[in-house]
Amino acid sequence: MSQSNKYQADEKGMYGRFGGAYIPEMLYPNIEHLKSVYLDIIYSDNFQKEYRALLKDYVGRPSPLYLAKRLSEKYGTNVYLKREDLNHTGAHKINNSLGQILIARHMGKTRIIAETGAGQHGVATATACALMGLQCVVYMGELDIERQAPNVARMRMLGAEVVAAKSGNKTLKDATNEAMRDWICNPVDTFYIVGSVVGPHPYPDMVARLQSVISEEMKVQVPEKTGKELPDYVIACIGGGSNAAGAFYHFLDEEQVKLVAVEASGLGVDSGETAATIAKGDVGIIHGSKTFLMQSEDGQITEPYSISAGLDYPGIGPQHANLFDTGRASFLSATDAEALEAALELTQLEGIIPALESAHALAALKKMTFKKEDTVVITLSGRGDKDMATYRERLGF
Ligand SMILES: *Cc1c(COP(=O)(O)O)cnc(C)c1O
Repeated sequence: MSQSNKYQADEKGMYGRFGGAYIPEMLYPNIEHLKSVYLDIIYSDNFQKEYRALLKDYVGRPSPLYLAKRLSEKYGTNVYLKREDLNHTGAHKINNSLGQILIARHMGKTRIIAETGAGQHGVATATACALMGLQCVVYMGELDIERQAPNVARMRMLGAEVVAAKSGNKTLKDATNEAMRDWICNPVDTFYIVGSVVGPHPYPDMVARLQSVISEEMKVQVPEKTGKELPDYVIACIGGGSNAAGAFYHFLDEEQVKLVAVEASGLGVDSGETAATIAKGDVGIIHGSKTFLMQSEDGQITEPYSISAGLDYPGIGPQHANLFDTGRASFLSATDAEALEAALELTQLEGIIPALESAHALAALKKMTFKKEDTVVITLSGRGDKDMATYRERLGF
């Protein structure tokens, strides 16, 4: 598991001018402890053996790389889908939650906390906790608890305690604050499982490494399927950026591979109802790291909007901020309407109903031009079951 330095975090967790650990002093001991052990744990034989076995037999990896023939014909190129939607629990998030819970166990922790917005990360974490028999507390905004009832029921059925965050807007940001507070109060027994490549160092680096299995598999699958060493494009949707980070990881140094991240622009980049952080944000500090975020003139974090709950985040992981800064990755955005259209297209051409988040990545096909011989890999980060109510309402089925 080699890694380059150029696009990776340095000792202090900086990616160029982004990243770091801007945290309250009370959190220093927790973060320092994690920082001092996470790499040794991840690359220990014990961890690797158990993690790899779970990825294989519990998650169902490797996830297939599927040549979408009819979609390819339509766009006059070769489109391959990396099928994270086929993972247990229906998305890529389980790769991260299982990895972090094993790290927690290696550190002797017995209690897991997490924050969740739409509930996807909460469900993945509650799943991992049920599997390991560890106590699980998930913080969730009071408003999100109302909006995401099916995922709340799933978490409770899995044995997790779902705690309502009642401050602020009663959404993800407030849930994150509550989780931080819990961690400060329970530093000895508790491990905080963060759901994307965000938060203070070492979280962005740790989560990227755990999700890097996505590109590790692609590196084997692309030559098998195409006879070419490398894909020409890797495309992924981006909320906090964990599925994109995992899909990019082993291609960062292969500069001929074009990396494309697709943000959610909601009702439009300039509509005021958007989650397109790179397009609309500027540099600031959010959840303990320096990165791009959407904020008002007086520095208040603004409420993001997207039809897809998983992309509805006002920041972006610091590694992605640096990939934008250095030009290593390009950033596009897709609106709600474009994502809905792309979801319907995939469904009717390939018989695959994608998650709304993943549909944003698919929407990139209409915004780019490809050559006939190109290999275009799109990460299908999740399946659409959770989004059926929205599809029914918006597409009229
Ligand atoms: C949570 C989620 C995302 C967005 O999170 P990233 O960290 O940006 O990957 C994308 N797709 C699905 C299916 C999700 O559940």
